[in-house]
Amino acid sequence: MGVLVELQDVGQVYGEVVALDNTTTRFEPGSFTTIVGPSGCGKSTLLDIVAGLNRINDGRVLVDGQLLSAPRRETGIIFQEAALLPWRTVLENAAFALEARKVPEAERQAVAADVLRRVGLSEFGGHYPHQLSGGMRQRTAIARVLSTAPDLVLADEPFGALDEQTRVVLGFELLKMVRHVKATVIFVTHSIQEAVLLSDRILVMSARPGRIILDAPVDLPAERDPSVLGLKEAARLTEQVWGLLRTEAEDALARQGAAL
Ligand code: ADP
Repeated sequence: MGVLVELQDVGQVYGEVVALDNTTTRFEPGSFTTIVGPSGCGKSTLLDIVAGLNRINDGRVLVDGQLLSAPRRETGIIFQEAALLPWRTVLENAAFALEARKVPEAERQAVAADVLRRVGLSEFGGHYPHQLSGGMRQRTAIARVLSTAPDLVLADEPFGALDEQTRVVLGFELLKMVRHVKATVIFVTHSIQEAVLLSDRILVMSARPGRIILDAPVDLPAERDPSVLGLKEAARLTEQVWGLLRTEAEDALARQGAAL
């Protein structure tokens, strides 16, 4: 079951850069939230904080009411690059997180085989990462995360390097799988379409100092497929998010220009 994540007055400063400014928000158990915003607005910083990787300057983070002070085993992280071990097979990569948890070999194999089946890679368990397409590598990374039955999944542009069709297919697969384990998901993306298609809530962040400037529910049917993009609500939301992002991107470009 997914956890409740609460950020209370959280601030993160790097030198003079305010990466995240006094942010208060909560992520409900089992919810799927996407975060969009211009480069450098603090999206990765926010994920690192929720992962327990950053020592924050201000405020606190609670997971199911408990103060977060270190990374949790039940949190799964998916990066843009699959970060697989090249000398291990797909099956061994899928089982990797279980080794660190000292799960016995037979059980590791069984769980890894099961998650590979769920991501459609059963026939590729004996392959090595370099023999796979980018989409299949990312599927393996998803399998590795799912093998630990996470209650919180943090994804940092996981499909950013893939072509659009693969991206949409993998997005729906991920959605199905995290719903199956009822994990809470926080998903960073540059794609407004991906945000509308997959999530039940969209947060838009502003360029420095990083702040949440829109917190909008995605009021679309729970059963998602590409046809939801044709609905009026999807068009309205896309326009609203795009309007904010365009202003933010223009401001960020103007600042870069001024700094040159
Ligand atoms: P995003 O993920 O939205 O692109 P980040 O969270 O990576 O943004 O970064 C937010 C801001 O904090 C940026 O200005 C970035 O340069 C700065 N920053 C991030 N990490 C560090 C760090 N370890 N040291 C110094 N500055 C950092």
